[in-house]
Amino acid sequence: ALQLRGIQKSYGEHQVLKSVDMNVGIGEVISVIGPSGSGKTTLIRTVNMLEELNGGEIVLFGEDFIKGGTTPDRNRVRAGMQRIGMVFQSFNLFPHKTALENIMMAPRYHGKPAELEVNRKQALYLLDRVGLLMHADKYPHQLSGGQQQRVAIARTLALSPDIILFDEPTSALDPEMVGEVLKVIQDLAKEGMTLIIVTHEMDFALSVSDRVVMMEHGVIQADASPAQIINADSSTPNLLRAREFMGKAE
Ligand code: ATP
Repeated sequence: ALQLRGIQKSYGEHQVLKSVDMNVGIGEVISVIGPSGSGKTTLIRTVNMLEELNGGEIVLFGEDFIKGGTTPDRNRVRAGMQRIGMVFQSFNLFPHKTALENIMMAPRYHGKPAELEVNRKQALYLLDRVGLLMHADKYPHQLSGGQQQRVAIARTLALSPDIILFDEPTSALDPEMVGEVLKVIQDLAKEGMTLIIVTHEMDFALSVSDRVVMMEHGVIQADASPAQIINADSSTPNLLRAREFMGKAE
């Protein structure tokens, strides 16, 4: 679905991504882990064009999407962007719109043509899917953080993306609300959605992912299945490092 080839990103002198390669197959679930400041968030923000690339290229469903250092082709980028959804740490709902209205407005917010706007029925269906049908007419401040994040996920689904990027989706939540959001993400994974999830939830990453990618100092240290990481030993030092970072080493 997505290929990153030699992705580079710097802020001034500080090289945050140093030639990152990553392949994501259709239906794959990838967790991106690593210490604070290692470049995880920057990595997924470059995929969503929230950050400009300095080098390398991104291929989306076999087609050139973005090339570092060149002016992007606007039509190609727009077409690509409609295939990628993103869920942020901080929900980003419209405060003066109900849960239902937030979902109905999603396509407009992303600049899709009016005729593609989701209607009320679809929006209700999506709210039901994240378990919030009874809260359709509530405003964000009347919902818990976990519920707001589930609305945000439903809003992303309203765009019918082929890939969803999650940027630390549970980091802003009280601990008792983490589970309900992870459950929704897990359901998407089971349904075969292609997901890239930046997370600090190690047990979740190990249970939901096809592969865990560990970043450190702007490079990928490890890119392996959960089983490979759990069974890592001194013969595979990079994987062992990932195992230790995940708190799974003896
Ligand atoms: P965390 O787990 O804390 O979110 P992260 O691995 O997601 O960390 P990034 O947010 O990608 O890390 O940041 C990587 C580095 O890039 C950090 O050193 C950060 O200070 C720097 N950085 C990120 N955004 C900017 C920016 N807009 N301008 C300058 N530096 C930035």
